[in-house]
Amino acid sequence: MKLLTPRAAFLLAAAAVSPGAAQDRPLVVIDPGHGGDEVGVVAGDLIEKDLIVPVSLAIGAEFAAAGYDVVFTRTTDVAVAWDDRRARADSAGAVALFMLHAMQSDDPADAGAEVYFDESNEASSALARAVARELEGLGSRVLVDPRPWPFLKSGTARTAMIELAHLTNPEERARMLDPAFHHQLGRALVAALERVR
Ligand SMILES: [Zn+2]
Repeated sequence: MKLLTPRAAFLLAAAAVSPGAAQDRPLVVIDPGHGGDEVGVVAGDLIEKDLIVPVSLAIGAEFAAAGYDVVFTRTTDVAVAWDDRRARADSAGAVALFMLHAMQSDDPADAGAEVYFDESNEASSALARAVARELEGLGSRVLVDPRPWPFLKSGTARTAMIELAHLTNPEERARMLDPAFHHQLGRALVAALERVR
């Protein structure tokens, strides 16, 4: 727990103690990738660990507006261990964990999103496919692909790791800097989860 930011700790506590909240409002965990020494992708002046925070906050806001309790694994520039990201969702009783990232490529023409999931988990597989359909609806090419990574495995929280876009593609870079698009992404992920719950 020492890696919880004060705000994340507050949100987790609030979700746990609000009367009826845990029963009445499903909880999602939004996990902004990287943080601290782990910078993620660097594309020109864009740094993944920084960009992904406002994107994640907007996505969380859309889940809150749709009636979900939302816990962020971080909201500041701190490192969070992969196991802690997973554990946060499982211990909070989350219905879903969205691990959010962005990509780069040497070829600026490369574009699109990628969604990774645990193929042994039917609920996560269904969520990943639903996420892909919704992102395609926003005009993205989407690769949906299973991965054997331990942090994708959960018995309780549907889990999707989403590489939202290529920061080295000019059009996708522009979208990823647009707050309106961050909220579109949020509504897309809400729609994806609603489709499989
Ligand atoms: Zn990343």
